[in-house]
Amino acid sequence: MTAAEPRVGQTVEPCGPASHASPAPPALTRRGIPLVLMYHAVADVDEDPNQLAVTPDRFEAQMRWLRRLGLRGVSVAELLDARRAGRHRGLVGITFDDGYTGVLQYALPVLRRYGFGATVFVVSDRLGGTNEWDAGPVWPLLDGAGVRELAAAGVEVGSHSANHVRLAGLPPDRLGEEVRASRDRLRALLGTAPRGFAYPYGSMDVAARSAVADAGYGYACAVDASRSSLGLMALPRMYIGQHDNALRLFAKRLLYRGHVTRRGNVS
Ligand SMILES: [Zn+2]
Repeated sequence: MTAAEPRVGQTVEPCGPASHASPAPPALTRRGIPLVLMYHAVADVDEDPNQLAVTPDRFEAQMRWLRRLGLRGVSVAELLDARRAGRHRGLVGITFDDGYTGVLQYALPVLRRYGFGATVFVVSDRLGGTNEWDAGPVWPLLDGAGVRELAAAGVEVGSHSANHVRLAGLPPDRLGEEVRASRDRLRALLGTAPRGFAYPYGSMDVAARSAVADAGYGYACAVDASRSSLGLMALPRMYIGQHDNALRLFAKRLLYRGHVTRRGNVS
């Protein structure tokens, strides 16, 4: 990549205040939760029993669809900052779990074209390996250089634990290793500590949420979050797959909730 290329998410955001005065975000309510999409792999794959992959063409179509609706994809960090400043209207968080190579190879060029941002949650001790934790097809994960390349392009890099294990019920020492050590390793890799965390399998409990907060993360993404757990340490996300029905529903929900201005063709 050359210096002339825009960073992901850089091209669309209009000029605005570089900082804002609000010291803390307003409390999360179910209605006020940030809206975040959850992807895994972006790749053409032969088999996908767990429905974790979206083809590059479909991913681009989904991004195009968001833009037609007047929505802009951003990293979770940008979404939370915008929310704090009261300018999150029309923004959607885009996340990729696990850190597959296709995020760099296929998704990044699309994000650049659309001026979108995103967050990728990587498994710190499996960089350059595979998703061997899944019972299913094995796909390559980004190595350290690939993760650095994403970060240099403006993609937010967060932690998806050290070894991709379920955190709920984990003994305290293992919990600390997965959460804190993962953060330390990503700090060593990138020069800055990751702000975000995503629970592997969405598995979390009170101890896990506390461990993530205590380790210094600013937010954590779950999959589903109960009313009692909902908050910055348990942000719910919407699964998006190869079949775009979920995205259709999501878009309708967004429109229903009045999060976007009415423009573009919804049908
Ligand atoms: Zn995962």
